[in-house]
Parts: sequence; C-alpha cells; structure tokens
Amino acid sequence: MYQLINLPFKESQLEPAISAETIALHHGKHLATYVNNLNNLLPGSDFENMTLEEIVAKASGAIFNNAGQILNHNLYFEQLQAPSTGNMPEGRIAEAINEQFGSFAEFKEKFTAAAVSLFGSGWAWLASDNDGKLHITQEANAGNPVTKGLKPLLTIDVWEHAYYVDYRNRRPAYVDAIWQLLNWQVIDTRYK
Ligand code: MN
Repeated sequence: MYQLINLPFKESQLEPAISAETIALHHGKHLATYVNNLNNLLPGSDFENMTLEEIVAKASGAIFNNAGQILNHNLYFEQLQAPSTGNMPEGRIAEAINEQFGSFAEFKEKFTAAAVSLFGSGWAWLASDNDGKLHITQEANAGNPVTKGLKPLLTIDVWEHAYYVDYRNRRPAYVDAIWQLLNWQVIDTRYK
C-alpha cells in the first residue's frame, strides 16, 4: 500500500509564495486522492510489487495516471522549503547548470518558458540522462521524464490546482515564486 508522504515543511511555511490553504488542498486532498486511487487499482494488477518509477515506466491508463501523479507530487513537495531571496543552486548540479546553460539566469529563463508555455495541465522538468547531461522537458497530465529514460531532478507542477487559490490565472507569477522555494540540496542529491 502506498502512503501519503509527510511534507518536509509546515503547511504555512511556504507563505507568502504558496498559501497554507493551497498546500492543505494540494497535499491533503489532491495527492491523497491519487494515493487512495492507486491503492484501489493495484490489487490483482501486474503492477502490485513494483516501485512507483517502474509502474510509471510501464503502465498506462488509470494506473499510470495515479502512480505518475504520486511520483510527481512526491518529487515536487520534497524539493520545497521556506522562501529565501537570492536562492541559488549549489553543488554539482550548480556546475552542470552553468556548463550546459551558460548561467543559472539562462537556465531559469528556459525552464520558466517551459513551465509557462505548457498547454493545459502538466509538469515542467529538469532531468538527467545516463551521461549526466541535463534536459528540460514538458510533460502533459501525469507525465514524468522516467518514461523517456531520464532521471527527474526538479519539477514545477503547472496544474491549476497548484496555483489557482493564490494566483488565479496568473501562472507566470506562481512559476516566478517557486524559484525562492527550491531546496537545491535535495535537487543536487537527486543528480548524484
Ligand atoms: Mn498537483
């Protein structure tokens, strides 16, 4: 049975970037529903004893959608922390970003464009391939770069439920706010 993850922060700790109300709904209602759905779908299926990553790489339909949303939200919430201005990457991921995108500012611009321009519901990702090369991808709905053989490192959820309470239709303002919340130690550890 899959469990709803505990958040690494208090519901109000991301304010003012993301409200406690949004986190309560996003984690306590949306993610909890995906966990309950998957636990109802798995018994008797071919996917019962697989990891989330394996399920997402191999499944389709409702099992893919719910497993994907659990994996995606776990990666999203676990990379967030209280806001800090001037928040910057650190460690090997910082070096890789500078090498491949020229600078953090250029990377941020490209990633922001991917998140803002994604049509409809989905996720913007930074992922790495087997050679450690970085890739920015856009994934619709429950998509995750593991389906492309890539390792997910950083993500921005651009489903409306992630921002509508706080930002209404202003997705660019929400995406801009996420940058001050990223825990780059967590992202760097995923890269290693
Ligand atoms: Mn979400």
